Amino acid sequence: MASDMRPPNSKKGGVPSHARVSDQACHDKFQSCDGDGKPSRAAVNGVSVKENHGTCSSNPDHAGAVLVDGAKGSIAQSGHVDSADYDCAGCLHGENGSPMACDLQQESDRDQAGHTLDDLFFFDDEEEDDIDWEPSARIVENRWFCTNCTMPNMDEVTHCQNCNDHKGSEVLAGYDVFQASFAQAALISADTALPPGSTAIGFDEQMLLHSEVEIKPNPHPERPNRLRAIAASLAAAGIFPSKCALVPPREITKKELLMVHTSDHVESVEQTKNMLYSYFTSDTYANKESARAAKLAAGLCADLASLIVSGRVNNGFALVRPPGHHAGVKQAMGFCLHNNAAVAALAAQKAGAKKVLIVDWDVHHGNGTQEIFEGNKSVLYISLHRHEDGNFYPGTGAAHEVGVLDGQGFSVNIPWSCGGVGDDDYIFAFQHVVLPIAAEFAPDITIVSAGFDAARGDPLGCCDVTPAGYSQMTSMLTTCSEGRLLIILEGGYNLRSISSSATEVVKVLLGDGPCYGKGAAAPSKEGMQTVLQVLEIQQQYWPVLVPILASLQAQQGLALSKYAKSAHGIETGVLFKQPLRKTFVAECWETFVLECAP
Ligand SMILES: [Zn+2]
Ligand SMILES: [Zn+2]
Repeated sequence: MASDMRPPNSKKGGVPSHARVSDQACHDKFQSCDGDGKPSRAAVNGVSVKENHGTCSSNPDHAGAVLVDGAKGSIAQSGHVDSADYDCAGCLHGENGSPMACDLQQESDRDQAGHTLDDLFFFDDEEEDDIDWEPSARIVENRWFCTNCTMPNMDEVTHCQNCNDHKGSEVLAGYDVFQASFAQAALISADTALPPGSTAIGFDEQMLLHSEVEIKPNPHPERPNRLRAIAASLAAAGIFPSKCALVPPREITKKELLMVHTSDHVESVEQTKNMLYSYFTSDTYANKESARAAKLAAGLCADLASLIVSGRVNNGFALVRPPGHHAGVKQAMGFCLHNNAAVAALAAQKAGAKKVLIVDWDVHHGNGTQEIFEGNKSVLYISLHRHEDGNFYPGTGAAHEVGVLDGQGFSVNIPWSCGGVGDDDYIFAFQHVVLPIAAEFAPDITIVSAGFDAARGDPLGCCDVTPAGYSQMTSMLTTCSEGRLLIILEGGYNLRSISSSATEVVKVLLGDGPCYGKGAAAPSKEGMQTVLQVLEIQQQYWPVLVPILASLQAQQGLALSKYAKSAHGIETGVLFKQPLRKTFVAECWETFVLECAP
């Protein structure tokens, strides 16, 4: 499926800074709205929605929640009814990671100065007329939103300009077939005799009920169809539910959640069931079903972890939402309510695991997971993510963030410096950082926070990892913890990308070899620089990295000296004694790839 998609729009180096959507852009927009003296109000299902031009702020005190009976609560924000909120929804998850980032790069011929998300949703408008502004009407006029990737397109085009999927996409066509077989599938119980090496999947259709109340014309990227698309793909491949054990759904208990989150956080999520809709941040929504969906997601992850540690199943895949890795000790954010991976890690320890490895390959840093375990040396957190000096959402996850107190060295961040990162960079980082540290740590179970938003074609991630790349990474992780591996879905917003990627991952769990056909990974120069930076920092905590760093530096020195000799007549070896200079190394990089890469 991936081969049907257009090449990624993203280019190395990301979006020019002047073209980024920023919080400031939001505030500028609010300023404009306020300045016009046109506060907007809307009625949703008869409930008056509080005017709230301040939803760009993450301060929940700015807003009231909409209760089912129309009363105002205080834990979450209402709103998202006017154009300013479209700006906000993008900007909080935004910077380079917003959908706009891809679109702007695709439209590189346009004058990029002053772009905001307005340009994304109101493209081709010749001028703004604030006096007659009817944003809700204008946003849908002559446009259709892609089922596969949610991006807007003009009516006259038949294929999405972002992902090339057809206007009448059939990406969900197989879900009916899955539903029929899923309804007949038996859930495993305490008495079920499972064959050795079983793979379990956690899924329940009640998690589809968590959705953004439709008060905006454009779909939220974290939408129920994500699970439908993956389930349909697994069914089409003949592996789910037929070849997998099915974990019975269970809502996580309050006691289990309190091991990860504060009681205030747990209560705030629970209260959303009394509201028609509410927002924890401007992009983190809840409806009346969200609290239950979040508890089911966490419960399925916990039970999968217990099943794996107990040895009843070999590995598992949690097909769950809402995602979890941005949810911290006391806050929901980034589409995440409860931290599923953290709950699973503690469930694994309760079941007998002493050491847990969490590998997070979602394109965003799992700030919540890192926060929860940053002082805990029994849980090692390794994340690969776009960072760009903190300009990519959520801004955390720099290489120097290594954990605190006893947990120093047990947070390992591999922060990419640009978009467009692909299979080779990920696999190179796995070979030189993730697997060596994992081998030294020797976990009893490995949990993957498996966002598929670094996948080729993702509208938010703008990276280039293929289904084969994900299968290779999964295969590499099966060498850790004797194959005890739990994959938990996090982000990922292109339905074809996430379904094909997840399907290849589950095939590996079932015992297939990886479908990655290439040999040694040849990283980009930016990828190599990131890996070298991480090795420099982490070698003090993980001695296994010392010779790896020395080897890479020697290889680079070789490239450096060859370059110097050919370009400047300097004898080979002279530059070995010089500290590596980034710009010079970058110039030498092609030489290294051609002559020195293993
Ligand atoms: Zn699309
Ligand atoms: Zn993500």
